[in-house]
Amino acid sequence: MQKKIVIVGAGVAGINAATKLVDNGYPGELITIIDKGNDPHNRLPEEVMTGMLGCGGWSDGKLTYHTAIGGQLAKYCGEDKAMELMDQVISNFRRFHPKPEEIFCSDPVAEPDFIKPYFGLRLFPVWHIGSNYLHEIAKAWYQYLVDKDVKFMWNSEVSSINFNNSFIEYKDDGFLYKETYDELIFAVGKSGIDFAQQLSDDYKLPTEPKSVQIGVRFEAPQKYFQKLIDISYDFKLYQKYEDVSLRSFCTNNNAAYVAVEETYGDVTYNGHAKKGEQFRNDMTNFGILMEIKGIKDPFKWSRHVVNKLQINNEGLYYSPNFTRQPGLTSEGTTVVAHPIGEDTFNSFVKKVMGGYMDYVVNFIDDMNKVFEFGDDWGMYIPEVKYLSPEPLVNYTNLALNEYPNVHFVGDALSARGITVSGAHGIYVAEYLLTNVTND
Ligand SMILES: Cc1cc2nc3c(=O)[nH]c(=O)nc-3n(C[C@H](O)[C@H](O)[C@H](O)COP(=O)(O)OP(=O)(O)OC[C@H]3O[C@@H](n4cnc5c(N)ncnc54)[C@H](O)[C@@H]3O)c2cc1C
Repeated sequence: MQKKIVIVGAGVAGINAATKLVDNGYPGELITIIDKGNDPHNRLPEEVMTGMLGCGGWSDGKLTYHTAIGGQLAKYCGEDKAMELMDQVISNFRRFHPKPEEIFCSDPVAEPDFIKPYFGLRLFPVWHIGSNYLHEIAKAWYQYLVDKDVKFMWNSEVSSINFNNSFIEYKDDGFLYKETYDELIFAVGKSGIDFAQQLSDDYKLPTEPKSVQIGVRFEAPQKYFQKLIDISYDFKLYQKYEDVSLRSFCTNNNAAYVAVEETYGDVTYNGHAKKGEQFRNDMTNFGILMEIKGIKDPFKWSRHVVNKLQINNEGLYYSPNFTRQPGLTSEGTTVVAHPIGEDTFNSFVKKVMGGYMDYVVNFIDDMNKVFEFGDDWGMYIPEVKYLSPEPLVNYTNLALNEYPNVHFVGDALSARGITVSGAHGIYVAEYLLTNVTND
């Protein structure tokens, strides 16, 4: 019997899974990838979350290489296997890169003295690709899979999945279509978080509770942070209090741009960096994210807070220096953000954040002691990481316990990074290659 594999989501996880399959002789014509976004040639710059390579394809392309970063992986397959899977993901990015020699690795080995006693620094290697190269990688990678006869369906949003009878329904051009599968890889990423939640509710999937991480995206001229960037490109400074831990997250440098994300209809912020002197703006941006303990329903609380922190359907921008304004996106338009003054920041933002904003302010004050940027900075409010509910899966193949032919991968399995998401996809593909008969 021939097994038909359907992959929902052409993001990092789905594409790595398909690649592993065809690389090892699985017939491409038996693999269908359905995505609600565009192919890499038609994907627009503002389509940050959907289309070929998903969020990963329009991200900064920092490939982190540590099992403690980016979500659960070693828990499923063990430390050694996790590192080996991440190696495979990184080598796929190299393989389709037009200039692989330009990928550079930042590998800090010790915490520098100058950040002490205010911060700790997480130590791990990271490869940096740059968003403009990611677009080229996406095109070459797509062509490889098309040449292997993998079937792609773009602009097709999967709206329901029948786990009991193994079929999905998707919308294309306003019409509803049905597609059956033998094995399903569910890889919808962050832009599919609502859909994942809906399936979790409909099928009463047992899930592990997840914390929510919320904060701001900080932006300042790079010169102030250069001494730390020289040691660690994607530096992760951290502070810990009893109920709150904070860390800098997803640092972008040299040609660093703030990106608008839309989640649940609200504006939130992220960032990415291009490679190449022509894009240089000498700015640095990074998230300052808090993980807060003790909030009863953290997911609901964060959604409420994010929804409140909008003015005129825009997120907010605050700088203590009134001459600083929201920066330009990589496309040359102004980042959509409503500028606010100190009064609004103190009376409105701090109130909505229930006092937790003081931790962020304190983090920035401490950074100022180390990096001395004065009032030459701004922040985009809010940045948030909603994590998909993590369904309980079989550790050997990431399949739902009750539906062994449905595999959850990537951000849909509560990952939050490119290498871990891609590794999930490859892990499932390896299982399918050895366990699914195809005669
Ligand atoms: C701006 C930005 C910058 C980032 N920078 C980095 C970084 O530098 N390093 C890092 O490690 N991580 C980064 N991330 C996170 C990283 O991109 C994700 O963790 C990773 O892409 C997750 O992979 P995935 O395959 O699970 O999901 P995605 O890559 O998000 O792919 C999911 C795909 O599913 C499709 N989809 C969703 N719902 C449906 C549906 N119902 N029907 C059909 N298709 C659907 C989407 O169109 C999308 O293409 C960044 C994210 C953003 C948004």
